[in-house]
Formats: sequence, C-alpha cells, structure tokens
Amino acid sequence: MNQLKSSWRRVVIKVGSALVAPEGKGCSTKYLLALADFIHHCHNQNKQVVIVSSGSVAAGAGLTNHDLSEPLSIPQKQALAAIGQSHVMQHWQKLFDDTCAQILLTRSDLEGDKRVVNARNTLETLFKMDAIPIINENDSVVVDELVVGDNDNLAARVAVMCDADLLLICSDVNGLYDKNPKQFDDAKLLATVDTIDERILGFADVTNNPIATGGMHTKLQAAQLATGAGIDTIIINGREAKSFERLKNETISGTLFIGR
Ligand code: GLU
Repeated sequence: MNQLKSSWRRVVIKVGSALVAPEGKGCSTKYLLALADFIHHCHNQNKQVVIVSSGSVAAGAGLTNHDLSEPLSIPQKQALAAIGQSHVMQHWQKLFDDTCAQILLTRSDLEGDKRVVNARNTLETLFKMDAIPIINENDSVVVDELVVGDNDNLAARVAVMCDADLLLICSDVNGLYDKNPKQFDDAKLLATVDTIDERILGFADVTNNPIATGGMHTKLQAAQLATGAGIDTIIINGREAKSFERLKNETISGTLFIGR
C-alpha cells in the first residue's frame, strides 16, 4: 500500500455519477457520507478541497421520470442537466455546514487566458470565504467543440487551473488492474505508476466498467494531464468507506500515479 504525501494542501476530488446516483437516477447519500467525512477531515487539517461532481443528468432523470437506459437526444440530456443541477447542489449542501458554491465550466472557459484567471480568482476567494467549490461541466450550453466530455478530464483541467497538488478520482473500481479482475483471479492492482506509457494505457481496456461514462480510458487521460503538470493522481474505489479511512491515515488503497 502506498503512502500519501502529507505535505499536500489542495485536492480536486472527482465524484462520478456512479457514486452520486448509484441507482442511475436521483441523488443518493449511500456513498457520499464517507466522502463528506473525509472532506471534513481535510478541512480540519487546513487542506483545501474542490469537488468536481457529476450527477445532474441522473438527478434530472429522477425528477422527471426519464429512464437513462433509453436513448435520449442531446437537447433532452441538456434539459435534464438543467433540471438536475440545482438538485445535485442541494444534495451536497446537506452534507456540509460550510456553504457550497457552484461553478459550471466548459472547455473554452479553461483555455482562454482571461476566463482561467477569473475562475482561479473565484476559487481562491471561495477558499478565503470557507465555501466549498463544487464544479460540473456546463452541460446545458456546451456544443461539441466546447465539451470537455467527461468529468475525469474536467477534474484534471481544474486541478491544473487551480494549482492543486493532488487529484483524487473516486471510481467504482479499486484502481488500475493489469487484467480484468472480474475474469482473472490473478489480476493485479497496480499500486504505483511512475509513467503512463503505452503498456499502462493498454490496461484501460481490461479495467473498464461498461456502465461508467468515461471508464478507465478517461481516468488515464486525466491522470496523464495532471501528472504532466506535477500533480499526483490517485484512483480509489469511492464506494468503499475504507478507501477514505485509509486516506485519512495517509495511505492509499488504489493506484497512485506520480506527478512529474
Ligand atoms: N456532467 C455530467 C453530469 O453531471 C456527467 C459527465 C461525467 O460524468 O463524466 O451528469
């Protein structure tokens, strides 16, 4: 098991729909209570936390009785995101005494110099106000070329933008395996990855969970982006409360990608 660097001070935590909406619609506290407890722990240690949360489309589906396993048009999904986003925020707010602050971003917001500076200034000010920044993609306004597309990549871009020293991707798998753990008993979890090369990228196919939006591919892309900027990146199983207990004790149960 890896040791977490105790010197980190700012983390971006990516929380996918598999954790916010494990039933595929609505919002649930089932997996978020342990995570919220970890965030409280970070705050008590004077560490800063940015949450990148999915779940708006699933929340919208819950509120309007849509079934996400049925094919939906892009405008329908965008409408569900518009309906669900405030519900996701209310859901997070119930878990904290500190005020939660919503920021909706698109790729162009994270590429243009001026907007990056504004977004960074807003985040810094939110930290000073002890508010908890909660970021999602601005699904209702994005058009193809402006879409980040998945919140793994969005979280990595946010981590780079706000000069975080840790990116924590909470998944519903334990980390990166060298073989499909559902098929092979001898599949090994990679505890540490120094360089994300072709061999490592090849492991994405074996670890992919077919029901996740981005799967392991987008998590590895996110890890590549963040580690390239010197940010240590961790994939843990966010459905296991013990993943967060270990992090509190500065140990890592998933895969650590070392920042370069
Ligand atoms: N932004 C989408 C949502 O809130 C999710 C995108 C993703 O999970 O990668 O539903």
